Amino acid sequence: MITILSGGTGTPKLLQGIIQIINPKKLTIIANTLENSYFSGVCVAADIDTILYTLSGIINEKTWYGIADDTFITHETLKEIGCGETLKIGDRDRAFKIQKTLLLDKNPLSKAVDIQRKALGIESLIIPMSNEESYIKIKTDEGEMDFHEFLVERRGEPEVHDLIYQNVEPSPGIIESIEDADMVVIGPSNPVTSIGPIISMDDVVDALKKSYVTAVSPIIGDVPVSGPAAKFMSALGHEVSCLGVAAMYHDFLDKFIIDLEDTKYQKKIEKLISEVVVTNTNMKNIEDKMMLARSILGEIL
Ligand code: GDP
Repeated sequence: MITILSGGTGTPKLLQGIIQIINPKKLTIIANTLENSYFSGVCVAADIDTILYTLSGIINEKTWYGIADDTFITHETLKEIGCGETLKIGDRDRAFKIQKTLLLDKNPLSKAVDIQRKALGIESLIIPMSNEESYIKIKTDEGEMDFHEFLVERRGEPEVHDLIYQNVEPSPGIIESIEDADMVVIGPSNPVTSIGPIISMDDVVDALKKSYVTAVSPIIGDVPVSGPAAKFMSALGHEVSCLGVAAMYHDFLDKFIIDLEDTKYQKKIEKLISEVVVTNTNMKNIEDKMMLARSILGEIL
């Protein structure tokens, strides 16, 4: 069994490669939930939805958000009648979000997601990191903002000074799925807002220390492949490089995968982590994704 910690862009790309080389039934994906929020009356669990859509083959790969070839009739109509929508939600995407919202009336998030993944024919388990609600607050030079206000309304532009989130309880099964896994994979996701929240929960680091853990750096050179990871890492005092990520994870990491562009960091990282693999980690197509998946899973394939 393999357990994968995931956000909503880098790791889902990798999942596309992993499911080509391993039986999806052997995978448990633990998804970040701290970016979850309500918009236009529906629950938006962005990272979970991206994982659901990726594993069922309907993800919009241009944005890693929403469903490919979706229509936006409801979105346009809501705008026309004066319901300003912060997020541009597609019609089919909205159907899943409405279903999730309705399910949440009587079920915890983990149950709602399990019902949806089964409806989509997904054989891997997808577990939201927590059933509790939480949020990320970002302290910027323009004041404190919530995550979507910073990222969507302000397009990630303000200077970030600090970032805080509430500690939440792991949902049932998380600790066991880490401890009992043949390998835990920390995908190339934002170490501050996607992976940070998962590993900050009680007992997760202890469970990781008991398991064999491989991570892929989301930073190539001195910039993230996409998204605001650099701003968040700098604000929390971390160097923006694979070395900075290694310093954040080294306590519980057995193997770290860095990009060919980053060979200069290899020796320094080897002082922190016993095995460092240098390979192409920039996933531009399915071949790149499968090659990276093979480098990660090597020992257990
Ligand atoms: P978010 O929830 O949308 O922020 O998505 P994630 O946390 O899953 O992913 C964001 C991180 O994925 C960013 O730090 C990117 O640098 C990283 N990322 C995206 N694509 C790739 C890729 O092809 N290779 C690597 N190494 N990292 C990637």
